[in-house]
Formats: sequence, C-alpha cells, structure tokens
Amino acid sequence: MGKVTGFMEFTRETPERRPVAERINDWFEIYQDFPEEKLRTQGARCMDCGVPFCHTGCPVTNIIPDWNDLVYRGRWREASRILHSTNNFPEFTGRICPAPCEAACVLGINEPPVTIKNIEKAIVDRAWDEGWVKPEPPSTKTGKRVAVIGSGPAGLAAAQQLARAGHDVTVFEKADRIGGLLRYGIPNFKMEKHLIDRRIKQMSAEGVEFVVNAHVGVSVAVADLRRQYDALVLAGGAEQPRDLKVPGRELKGVHFAMDFLPQGNRRALGDIVPESEAILATGKRVVIIGGGDTGADCLGTSHRQKALSVTQFELLPMPPEQRSPSTPWPLWPMQLRVESSHEEGGIREWSVSTVAFSGDAEGNVKKLHAIRVGPPPKFEAIAGSEFEMDADLVLLAMGFTGPVRGGLIEQLGIELDQRGNVNAGANWMTSVEGVFAAGDVRRGQSLVVWAIAEGRKCARAVDEFLMGSSELAA
Ligand SMILES: Cc1cc2nc3c(=O)[nH]c(=O)nc-3n(C[C@H](O)[C@H](O)[C@H](O)COP(=O)(O)OP(=O)(O)OC[C@H]3O[C@@H](n4cnc5c(N)ncnc54)[C@H](O)[C@@H]3O)c2cc1C
Ligand code: SF4
Repeated sequence: MGKVTGFMEFTRETPERRPVAERINDWFEIYQDFPEEKLRTQGARCMDCGVPFCHTGCPVTNIIPDWNDLVYRGRWREASRILHSTNNFPEFTGRICPAPCEAACVLGINEPPVTIKNIEKAIVDRAWDEGWVKPEPPSTKTGKRVAVIGSGPAGLAAAQQLARAGHDVTVFEKADRIGGLLRYGIPNFKMEKHLIDRRIKQMSAEGVEFVVNAHVGVSVAVADLRRQYDALVLAGGAEQPRDLKVPGRELKGVHFAMDFLPQGNRRALGDIVPESEAILATGKRVVIIGGGDTGADCLGTSHRQKALSVTQFELLPMPPEQRSPSTPWPLWPMQLRVESSHEEGGIREWSVSTVAFSGDAEGNVKKLHAIRVGPPPKFEAIAGSEFEMDADLVLLAMGFTGPVRGGLIEQLGIELDQRGNVNAGANWMTSVEGVFAAGDVRRGQSLVVWAIAEGRKCARAVDEFLMGSSELAA
C-alpha cells in the first residue's frame, strides 16, 4: 500500500479538460497534462484493500492496487510491466473506458473513488515516452496459421496474443484502415488515432500481418480462409444499427450515426470525403435520436462542425443525478452521465418518442414530429404532448442489434444465440470446428475493455485448440 493515510489526507483530483471555446475548434484530445507529483498523490489514495473490489469491476482483471502503489513510489517501469500483463492496450482503455473499476472501488463507498483510469493512462503514456513498450516477438514459431477477421480491439488483442504464442497471424479488415470502432467510431477528440498506428507497428514487428480492404465473405472467400488457416477468429463487431421505422425515414438528411461519425474521423485523418457522400452538421439544425455514448459522440462532432443547433432526444426518462438506489455500490451506477460533449453545448431531452419526419419538395428532411412518453416498459404516449421541431440533419444513435447476419456468418453456417449474436461456448469456439469468436460479434455492442478481455481469452482457447495446452495469460 502506498501511503497508509493517503485516502484520508488527499482528495480525488483528475486532469482538467481544455476550455470549451478552444477545444471545439480542433479535433485533438480534450484533457490537459497532469503533473507527476499529482499522479503520485492520487496513487497514494489507494487502500490496497484486502478484497480489492476494483478487480470485480474490471473485465481485464487489471492488478490495480499494485500499480497504484508503484506509481505512488515512482516505480513507473514496474507499473507498466504489471499493467501490460493483463491489458494489451491500456492507452485505449485509459482514455475511453467508462471505468467500471472506479464504480466498484471500495473508497467509493463514502469518498470519491481512486482515479484508476487516469493512473492507467499515465503509466502507459509514460511507458511509450520512455521507450519501454517494445515488440515482443516469440522465441519459437509453431507453424500454425490463424486468420483474425476484424481489426477492432477484440481482433487486435487476439492477434497480438496469438502472435506472441508463436502462431502466424493474419488480420483481415474490410475497412481501409485498421482499428474497428477505435478508428472510425470513437471520435479523435476522445482518442487520437496515432495511438492505434504505433500499436500496429509494434504488432507488425511481432509478426502479425494486416490485410485491409479485405471483406471476408464478400471480396475474400471464407472457404479459402478455411483451407489456408488452422483456425479462424471472428471479431467483426456488432455493426447492425437499430433503425427507426417511422414515416419519413427515407428522407434525405436522416442517417445512422455510423454513417456520420466515420466521415468526421476520416476528415480528421486528412482524407477528403467526396461532396456527393458528405454528411456534415455545418450550419444545420441537428437532432440526435439516442441519449447514449454514440449520441454524445455525434454531439461533440456536430459542435466541431459548427452546427446551428443540436438537440439530443432519449426515450428513457432522465436518470437520477446521483447513483440510483437500484444500483448500489459496487454495481455499475444508474445515474445521469454528463460527457465532455454535453459540456460543450446542445439541449438534452428525455422521455421523447419520435413518430415521423417530414420534408420539403426535394425530399430533404425539414421537421421531426415527436410525442412525450411515460416510463418503461410501456412508454405510454402522453395525450396532448405532441410537438414538432425543425431539423436539417437527423442522426439515429439508438444502438445496435448485433452482427450483420449475411455474408461471412451465413456462409460459415454458424449458430447464433437468442439475441442474434454469434454463439460461442465456454471454449470460445462457435458451432463450427476451428472457428472462434470474440468481442461485440459474440456479446453484442459493449465496451472496448470487454473486447480486449474477450480477445485475450479467445486467443488462449485458440492456442489450446492448436497446441493442446497454452501458457497465454487470459
Ligand atoms: C460511436 C461509438 C462510440 C463508442 N465509444 C466507446 C467508448 O467511449 N468506450 C468504450 O469502451 N466503448 C465504446 N464503444 C463501444 C466499442 O467501440 C466496442 O464495444 C468495441 O470497439 C468492440 O470491439 P470489437 O473488436 O468487438 O469490434 P469493432 O471495434 O466493431 O471492430 C470490428 C471490425 O471488424 C470489421 N469487420 C466486420 N466484418 C468483417 C468482415 N466480414 N471482413 C473483414 N472485416 C470485418 C469491421 O470493419 C470492424 O473494423 C463505442 C461504440 C460506438 C459505435
Ligand atoms: S478498491 Fe479502490 S482503494 Fe481498494 S484496492 Fe482497488 S483501487 Fe485501491
């Protein structure tokens, strides 16, 4: 344990966000630097609990108290070694994880929890700055070949683990760049993309081969992969968006969030999006339907594109400002979340159901028609509460219903579970021998930290399948 009385002496402190007026004029990450002395003080707040509940909240089972202590003592290199022993990409989770570990931290019972996520980010950023993160190629090769389909966090974690176990790993990605939702979903202001590029470099040096513009089941035949590889890992995510089938849905200007957000990331990467395909919030009255993370990312992107106004609608009622009694510690709290994008502007409305869109003579959306509703599960319409709102761009951010069913999944003939996700057993294998699954494709739309955790566990199962046993940590 760092400082025995640290949790009584010091209060929680996190880095400041850059001023709104500055950050909405660029695409860079929003947090300012945090001095080392302050980080060590925050590490000192950890109580090294006999039963560290932070572990129960962390899908990758990060060994949190140990690295908190090492940071307090200034032993950063050891902290980095321990951090990387459970998490391949802590620079991703240290930036964008909602930190279920902090919600479960024992100190959180009566004080603000330890700043676990920020300490994680500081350790890995320092490790890269100091040159401690190096390729770790295997000392021997097995001669076995594994194809990983999808290059999001699940596919990348599985690929890195399998390559380190000595297998020849190829990652197939249908997009033009590696990274999955890390690259084209999560906006730059939450996570800058050079962080992915340096990991790809590290993984390439470890022997992983990357093939982009390779849509398995469309431009790459599944049968060829089955013939050429000893095992397949499906890590294609849960890309099927939930639609809003109301009159006027077909109007121009009504788009899925994931048609809009990738373009923003492409522009931030210097790509030119052809004008005929461009979906831009600039000068428009934007309405975002869906009050979750994806909606918040559309909001932040719209601010940066200089929308005229942005309104975000959510069907559910407004959650309580403090942790709801229905989700006591150490559960993930049901409570109002105010993301950085909300701090930047826009209006949030709750208990609103959109019933139609209407447009002009050219077929462009011009109005959204809605009604206020009661609480779940019935969401009963409140008579007389109908209203309409001007809208030039409507973004549908209502979640995802699972993996895209056609193509690869259909051609493999694998079983799906009741929710329409790929069914994989305890050994991570699907109903087809030698075909495994990890991440959102298996669990439905989730979190980056879960994708990494699943990629690691799946890699161990693949290694066992190929070699009879595995020394990979999961
Ligand atoms: C807008 C948005 C914001 C989010 N923000 C956060 C956040 O802040 N924090 C957080 O923890 N989580 C966030 N999430 C969730 C998180 O991004 C996902 O849970 C995570 O990326 C899932 O990882 P994955 O590897 O399973 O799949 P993905 O990241 O979806 O990657 C799947 C990849 O597979 C490729 N692919 C699919 N099919 C094929 C095929 N047949 N052939 C070749 N390639 C294929 C896709 O092109 C894609 O690149 C967000 C999600 C969205 C949509
Ligand atoms: S629960 Fe909180 S205080 Fe306890 S060991 Fe984990 S981080 Fe430290």
